[in-house]
Amino acid sequence: MLETLILDGKRVATDVKDSLKERVETLSTQGVTPCLATILVGNDPSSATYVKMKGNACKKLGIKSIKVELPEATTTEELLQKISDLNNDTTVHGILLQHPVPSHIDERAAFEAIAIEKDVDGVTSLGFGQTALGFGDYPSCTPAAIMAIIDYYNLPLEGKKAVVVGRSPILGKPVSMMLLNRNATVTTCHSYTKNLPDILATADIVVAAVGKPNFIKGEWLKDGAVVLDAGYNKGNIGDADYDSCYEKASAITPVPGGVGPVTISMLLKQTVDSAEKYAKQVSF
Ligand code: NAP
Repeated sequence: MLETLILDGKRVATDVKDSLKERVETLSTQGVTPCLATILVGNDPSSATYVKMKGNACKKLGIKSIKVELPEATTTEELLQKISDLNNDTTVHGILLQHPVPSHIDERAAFEAIAIEKDVDGVTSLGFGQTALGFGDYPSCTPAAIMAIIDYYNLPLEGKKAVVVGRSPILGKPVSMMLLNRNATVTTCHSYTKNLPDILATADIVVAAVGKPNFIKGEWLKDGAVVLDAGYNKGNIGDADYDSCYEKASAITPVPGGVGPVTISMLLKQTVDSAEKYAKQVSF
């Protein structure tokens, strides 16, 4: 059997970021600095780390990042008002509301309040609908990252059987739609799915988006399957059991260094895309 290809997310992310440098410079000659506003509500330390990482990644590319930090006691109305302010701020091109928000806030209402042209994290239902129909500008970033890895390595999708384990609005559902739009035959599994190992045994492509460490076992896989592990659990552990999956797979994303770094680069890319659209509008 051929050696398993390790799908190097850092390499894909570097490629994406390199392609953005020139675009950011061109925008600056037009007087536009791409700007991502991140909103963090409350004191969750992991969320604070994610927001910081995103801000640092922006800085490295010359993308401006505005950090909006709101206290735990923020009401839904106050959050909606903040989002509305950012929607109306023409210097802001992308808005990211860090999930999860405190439980007393209506997170769905807050996501929906983000203007579609600034929804660079792909969280609105309109953005999801457009992605599902195949014409959305800004898909959710982790599904976009999975597709970018597939494309970087020229992994074939047409006619392939893809099994997505997980159906969350930001990950399992949109990636299922994106694979379907690229002519894979897609099965989406969830916590009510029966006989998951039997379903996985038919998969040419497996997307692990389940949120449970080492959940997908190599012995469940078909020989030569491609494993794309979006999972990120405590201790840098993926949703697929790496060692046993590596033995069976023809290609696999590691954790860390797989889908994660590409996800951030997709956020940067979509912010630059949005800034370019804005620059085009104001130049007329
Ligand atoms: P989530 O909202 O918790 O969704 C998990 C999904 O897995 C649900 O649809 C759930 O089914 C399903 N599931 C749970 N137990 C299952 C079982 N025994 N068999 C089959 N399906 C089962 O999680 P998420 O936000 O999509 O995240 C998934 C993973 O991706 C996590 O490890 C997370 O840390 C990671 N993640 C990574 C990135 C990145 O940038 N790399 C970004 C976001 C998330 P039900 O719908 O029936 O409950």
